[in-house]
Amino acid sequence: MHVLIVEDEPSLVFTLKDTLENEGYKVHVTDDGQAALDFIENEVIPDLMILDVMLPGISGFDVCRKVREKKLMFPIIMLTARDQEIDKVTGLNIGADDYITKPFGVKELLARIQARVRRASTYSKVAAVDEITLGGDTVLKLNEGRVERPDGSEELTTREVELIRFLASYANEPVSRDALLENVWRYEYSTNTRTVDVHVSKLRTKLEVTPDDPQYLVTLHGVGYMLKTG
Ligand code: CA
Repeated sequence: MHVLIVEDEPSLVFTLKDTLENEGYKVHVTDDGQAALDFIENEVIPDLMILDVMLPGISGFDVCRKVREKKLMFPIIMLTARDQEIDKVTGLNIGADDYITKPFGVKELLARIQARVRRASTYSKVAAVDEITLGGDTVLKLNEGRVERPDGSEELTTREVELIRFLASYANEPVSRDALLENVWRYEYSTNTRTVDVHVSKLRTKLEVTPDDPQYLVTLHGVGYMLKTG
């Protein structure tokens, strides 16, 4: 497990590096944003990045945005100054997975890292899947963003593909609306559980033979949704 710390405050870097190494992580450190991008490009693609917002040169937000533009999806936890609520929204909108406000306890950060790593390993299993077959004759070609049904083919949006991938990582298990908001929408500004319901309805018109009586993407009342595969 390689962790990249991007932070220009030496005492914080010292504490984080020491703590993470004691937990068995291989820790790399850069103290500015461009150096971080160069490191990722030329040295090691980390399994997780801890990224300060306020950095000399390019900001943590720009680093995050550039990483996601390259389609690198390792978890990013951003460090923000106290009370920068706007930073939280911005960070999650540009593809950060989590944020933590300074000053923070090392135990709290470790817990966040472990939660992200667990989730990432579940997710990456499914991220590598190209095809999911539903009910024997409906094929989700995720890399091509397409559903093939006996009666024709439908295009999927990027968000729909993400939604399917997340549901499929818990195939045949219930997934709550909150989990979908957190992981597929990353708490984007002005989204709520209704957003999830609207997208699920739209997706059903593409996956299901009878969208009003879904067989694959089913509602579990009071719980959430479940994708039935296999
Ligand atoms: Ca800083």
